[in-house]
Amino acid sequence: MDYFQIKNGELHAEDVPLSRIAEEFGTPVYIYSRATLERHTRVFREGLAGLEKKPHLAFAVKSNPNLAVLRVMAREGFGADVVSGGELARALAAGMKPEDIVFSGVGKTWAELELGLEKGIGQFNIESEEEGLELAELAAERGQTARCALRVNPDIDAGTHEKISTGKADNKFGVPIDMAVAMYLRLAKLPGLEMRGLAVHIGSQLSDLRPLELAFEKIGALVQQIRGAGGSVTHVDLGGGLGVPYRAGEVMPSPADYGSMVARVTRGWDVTLMFEPGRVIAGNAGVLLTRVVRVKRNGNRVPFVIVDAAMNDLARPALYGSWHDFDAVRPSGQRMVANIVGPICETGDTFAMDRATDALERGDLAVFRTAGAYGATMASSYNSRGFVAEVMVDGDKVASVADRILPAEITAAERVPDWLD
Ligand SMILES: *Cc1c(COP(=O)(O)O)cnc(C)c1O
Repeated sequence: MDYFQIKNGELHAEDVPLSRIAEEFGTPVYIYSRATLERHTRVFREGLAGLEKKPHLAFAVKSNPNLAVLRVMAREGFGADVVSGGELARALAAGMKPEDIVFSGVGKTWAELELGLEKGIGQFNIESEEEGLELAELAAERGQTARCALRVNPDIDAGTHEKISTGKADNKFGVPIDMAVAMYLRLAKLPGLEMRGLAVHIGSQLSDLRPLELAFEKIGALVQQIRGAGGSVTHVDLGGGLGVPYRAGEVMPSPADYGSMVARVTRGWDVTLMFEPGRVIAGNAGVLLTRVVRVKRNGNRVPFVIVDAAMNDLARPALYGSWHDFDAVRPSGQRMVANIVGPICETGDTFAMDRATDALERGDLAVFRTAGAYGATMASSYNSRGFVAEVMVDGDKVASVADRILPAEITAAERVPDWLD
């Protein structure tokens, strides 16, 4: 459920007509709904109400790192799951407490590990023995103890797009499950580390709970093995990954279904569970508003609706062949079949082929829905288009939460060395 609805013939974000946003901020522009973000955090939390202990919720910053979005998360009591020093700095800047921050990722640099220690973050999710050894060395050098979980690769096919699957044995993430117990016990002996748990995250946009359940069962067995060998486990981080409906009518497992599965599988573990949802919180809380540049008819062929948004603003269709529902802001009731494309000089700059959509003409406004996660954050300035703007709506208020970065501001950071004169 989201707050992007038609009222008086025009699509609104909460109480704000989208034409007003286009006028004030230009297009393309991402629009986030505060009420929708908040609603999703609450639905997620309520889904986990049946757990034995209060869980730790960490928003996956990579899904939408905008400071205003992170501030909404912080206000809702969410911490952050970060995967770089840049994301760590954002989470802190948005008002999250260091102890509520979890640092994931296979390639944390020495400097990033140091930053995490310096800020006193809650947990490092270690993805290799090598990383654990480096962190132990660094922490001992600084006279600190790093709280850690070992991320395990459970070798499970999450049944999602191969580029967003992370829990198969040949993916780069986590340590092989058959090595996890011995590695955990070795790392637990190092001064500088407090091994307190395990972490798992098998992929994103999961439409089926079964692979998650299998992964969690495997983690439960590891918890018992580690304890049986004298190790301590107080925390288990179950990652993110819940899918969202990208097409009207598509049904996904609800946070309530997910929560009851988790409660059943983890009963008796006696740990604090941690979660890192991203897409399920932010996905349907954002749309990308765009304007039709022109309609190219090409005789009897399927027309091209050329919009002013492109693959540099919303990369998912070009990257993964993803579907985003595409709707007119003022639907006339007429329909058309069209190829929806951006202006970039790549055939991959195609949002949809042969799409049944609202009839659109030059100058009309339209939205790509479910663009709140993995949208603006993947933007580039390819074709010297600058960086897309972002706004947030709250009731009848709307504010810029990321100003458009103009091509001229990007070239201002470029230099021509004098030896080219
Ligand atoms: C990307 C990621 C998430 C968030 O995944 P969603 O599918 O957006 O919920 C959580 N944890 C880790 C480690 C990730 O890499």
